[in-house]
Amino acid sequence: MSALTEVYKDIAVCRRCDLYKTATRAVPGEGPENAEIMFIGEGPGWNEDQQGRPFVGAAGKFLEQLFASIGLKREQVYITNVVKHRPPSNRDPLPTEIAACNIWLDRQLEIIRPKMIITLGRHSMARFFPNKTVSKIHGSAERRDGVIYFAMYHPAAALHQQTLRYEIEQDMLKIPALLAELKSPPQEKIMPKQMSMF
Ligand code: URA
Repeated sequence: MSALTEVYKDIAVCRRCDLYKTATRAVPGEGPENAEIMFIGEGPGWNEDQQGRPFVGAAGKFLEQLFASIGLKREQVYITNVVKHRPPSNRDPLPTEIAACNIWLDRQLEIIRPKMIITLGRHSMARFFPNKTVSKIHGSAERRDGVIYFAMYHPAAALHQQTLRYEIEQDMLKIPALLAELKSPPQEKIMPKQMSMF
């Protein structure tokens, strides 16, 4: 059994908070174990709760359009959420629920070791950019220990607000260059002639 499948089995029977009581099923996340990019949303909505897959509703369709804008297919990236069971009536996940669920995201990160972690919305942003505001930091990248962290608006918010939609579209377009930069070998330092030691 693959390491991710084992995590999925554990998430399916998770009782670390009360969300499982009202959810239909867990939505652990999906994508290849060797994905370079991980997108992290907030929590499953109604469609996700029905299907057990992340971002399969309207926000997911929009996310797929954003992927297409940079030539990316959904199957190439890993997609998950900070909470793995649907909060009732699509309310925001509580800090206690996010904290209880953190161990699953930790295990997914440990297994996948993505080169780029992209947060969608403020709840996942808070984990990687504590005390920051999404309106201020969206679209800017931070590199820590060889991993790029990049915050974006949540696609559901951007779906219905034209200005946010433009912002999220523009932010998505920055991803290929960031990834390329991470992969390119460090620039050779060319010593100016007058500094040559020979
Ligand atoms: N919104 C999220 O944050 N995650 C999903 O999986 C679907 C909608």
